Amino acid sequence: MMTDKITKSEAEWQSELTPQQYAVLRQAATERPFTGKYVHNKADGTYRCAACGQALFSSETKYESGSGWPSFWDVVEEGHVELKRDSSHGMMRTEVVCARCGSHLGHVFDDGPRETTGLRYCINSLSLDFDPNAQ
Ligand code: FE
Repeated sequence: MMTDKITKSEAEWQSELTPQQYAVLRQAATERPFTGKYVHNKADGTYRCAACGQALFSSETKYESGSGWPSFWDVVEEGHVELKRDSSHGMMRTEVVCARCGSHLGHVFDDGPRETTGLRYCINSLSLDFDPNAQ
């Protein structure tokens, strides 16, 4: 299920997000490794976009990559993220953005768990809001 795209001015985003969230979500900054609040979160639930609330990742595909950022081997539903070529910082990487609001989430690499998709979605905690499953 795809919801309508969200378009807001940068001034609107800036007023709704914390400065730290704004820097990552709207300016593609990267939080320092091992500083994010979800790096070691092992609870069951859904990780949503911190900017627009769209469901992005499930705890069922979260794993310990050792990278210092929350890592997932798949998205919760096809079409909820978009991939973009990113040649910034002298590297060729694939950027992951929220398909609904266009906010920066992180990058995806092909060194994920071999027994799964082989992908590693390397996502900033600041880009996510964890929605725990009801007990
Ligand atoms: Fe979003």
